[in-house]
Amino acid sequence: MVLIILLYLRYIKHLFYIILFLFAVDGVAQFSEEQQPQIDSLNAIIDNPNSTNTSIAGAYTALLELFLSSPIEAPFVHQVIFNYEYDISGLNDTLYENHFTVDVVLFLSDHIDVTWAELQQEFLTADSAFRAAGVQLNLKKAVNVSFPAEWNNQAAEEITALPDSGQVPEFYDKFAIVQAKLTTQMEAIFNDFVADEENKDRTIFILPLSGMKLVFSEQNPDGTWKVSDPYPTGAMSYPAYVLHNRIPRNVRGVITQQQSRASRRTLAHEMGHKLINVSHEGLDQSSAFEGFTTPGLMGYGTSLEIYRGEAGRWHQERLLKSPFLYKMVNGEQIWNQDYIETGGYDDPIYKGLIMPD
Ligand SMILES: [Zn+2]
Repeated sequence: MVLIILLYLRYIKHLFYIILFLFAVDGVAQFSEEQQPQIDSLNAIIDNPNSTNTSIAGAYTALLELFLSSPIEAPFVHQVIFNYEYDISGLNDTLYENHFTVDVVLFLSDHIDVTWAELQQEFLTADSAFRAAGVQLNLKKAVNVSFPAEWNNQAAEEITALPDSGQVPEFYDKFAIVQAKLTTQMEAIFNDFVADEENKDRTIFILPLSGMKLVFSEQNPDGTWKVSDPYPTGAMSYPAYVLHNRIPRNVRGVITQQQSRASRRTLAHEMGHKLINVSHEGLDQSSAFEGFTTPGLMGYGTSLEIYRGEAGRWHQERLLKSPFLYKMVNGEQIWNQDYIETGGYDDPIYKGLIMPD
């Protein structure tokens, strides 16, 4: 009987070493600094010729438990290829302490019709638009990337419900009804780009996906509602007023952009959606899908103006409440309050800064 137990112990000892060896070769077995002394003392019991079989068996059990409970985190396997970083010196020369700041990461791909020179101009235009309203942009890096072509040309979002027939909800209320969310594939694609980044949920990421399409709810002449055909866009901002907290936190800062028009304001406009958390509205113009006659940054014109006060539909004031903003104070990042409820247009962080339709 004793012989059988000893053989058994010998057997599991070898098995255990084989398992540890395999994981060590893979480089994924990671014990914390606290665990290492425990492991050393358990190994000492096992290696000590004076240890009883019972204590050796106990040490093996404890080792196995430690091993099974240790976090084994496989590295993220990217499909995005990060080719090289662009030189961003000169784009961040005047960052001030104790000043509202937004971190930005730019990804650019050779397959879209935007050059690095144009994207720099887009960034500088956005920076000056937001600085005029009290917010500086901090470009953390700009990276040339490649990714699978099939990631382009698809509807990025889906609508999972529709208003009742005959119902005409207010503009922003509709987004709580239709429950728009990213498609599962788009969520995975966004995550691939940002997986290694810090403060993912508080950083703006520009992704060079092209042919992105949005869907929205449309009312038929008889009062019933339908999901629109996918509608192509040159840039999309996936703002909280549309997706609420249905967009996973880690990708809630993503904007896709495939174009740069002569005014170089696409990035500024899309960041306006994200940071002011409004649609195409401005001054006396309330929200609507079309923005051709809307004044200011949130219209389709060439203006970069972020209006303030009730007459400006509180855009500047809403901007300064954005959870993507922080200030550096004595070397510490002090973040704005996060959304209190779901991040919709009327989230409680915007108390007093909400306008009727
Ligand atoms: Zn827009």
